[in-house]
Amino acid sequence: MLIQADRLTRVLTTLLEKAGTETDRAQVCADHLVRANLKGHDSHGVGMAPSYVRWIAAGKLFPNARPKVIKDRAAVMVVDGQFGLGAPVAKETIEMAIARAKQTGVACVALRDSCHIGRIGTYGEQCADAGMVSMHYVNVVGAEPAVAPFGGREPRMLTNPYCCAVPRANGDHIVLDFATSAIAIGKLRVAHMKGEPAPANVLLDADGAPTTDTSAFFTSGPRGHLLPFGLHKGGGLQIICELLGGALAGQWTMQPGSDREYGAAVNNMLSIVIDPEAFGDLADYQAEAEAMMDYVSSTAPGQGVDRVRLPGDPERESLAKRMRDGVPVDDNTWKDILRVAADVGLDEAAIAAIA
Ligand code: NAD
Repeated sequence: MLIQADRLTRVLTTLLEKAGTETDRAQVCADHLVRANLKGHDSHGVGMAPSYVRWIAAGKLFPNARPKVIKDRAAVMVVDGQFGLGAPVAKETIEMAIARAKQTGVACVALRDSCHIGRIGTYGEQCADAGMVSMHYVNVVGAEPAVAPFGGREPRMLTNPYCCAVPRANGDHIVLDFATSAIAIGKLRVAHMKGEPAPANVLLDADGAPTTDTSAFFTSGPRGHLLPFGLHKGGGLQIICELLGGALAGQWTMQPGSDREYGAAVNNMLSIVIDPEAFGDLADYQAEAEAMMDYVSSTAPGQGVDRVRLPGDPERESLAKRMRDGVPVDDNTWKDILRVAADVGLDEAAIAAIA
């Protein structure tokens, strides 16, 4: 079904409120999830809300917990997410990072122990909207590993995302934002639900043989696992995210001595936020960057490509289309939302009235 973004946001806000979340935090989270759908990343959109409600019920996610600064020295801050609702916790942490970078030129902020913070590009965009360049190294813990390191046939990590965002004066920021696995687990699940094969070179079966059969991953038996993207280069970045997001920021990696059975997806994130004004010559920098972006965008497109895009362009195209046409929500996702809604006392008629 197609549903307008504002109505979908109201449904999720009400759902999260009913699950015990204060209204302003529920709104931030609902907005974050719906914007992920609007930007084309359904894997990190409204389909995550049922998990959040279940984690709240299980006492693993504390929906009203605030980020707490536990170390503060010059440009460095360490923030405890206190297993709070990730979207508001990370948004507030990045607000602190931006304020610090305005004072010191650069801020390096570690967010640890936050429940799932969703689409990392949102935080890159938050920095870029404030005129800041940013890099975000993130690891994922709290569950069994599902992604092998490059060259391996056993899983050692989860999908460790990375984001780098560079502001542009016209608001069309450069936002590079991806999982370091060859495919996001949510996207593999979508293929599985539709009965479609996985792309080649993203999945190994339980014996370590390459496969496109998604049931090798979604099985109750011995499970296959994902590969990192980009051979040794993506595999290297996957490890850097584990070291910077996991070990340095979070002091919680996927090594077997750490808790793998927390029972909710937990993110640790190292964010480096840079104020380009601190370098001086802002206008010269911007002119040079724009000239280079124009040069890249004007490349003759390859076969089967309509035009060369910059990181962030596909999300802008999706946003324009889905704001106009509505957000597609598949039947399984909608049923799951209705199921948890019933658990918190919202029946189908109540949801229909909001939607
Ligand atoms: P993806 O493979 O769709 O890659 C997206 C990136 O590639 C964007 O920067 C996009 O602008 C750019 N891009 C895509 N097509 C392009 C083109 N033709 N030309 C130029 N640039 C192009 O992303 P993904 O790996 O599926 O990740 C999806 C989302 O999942 C991300 O937002 C990520 O932050 C999120 N994620 C979150 C977690 C978590 O634990 N919180 C874990 C993994 C992933």
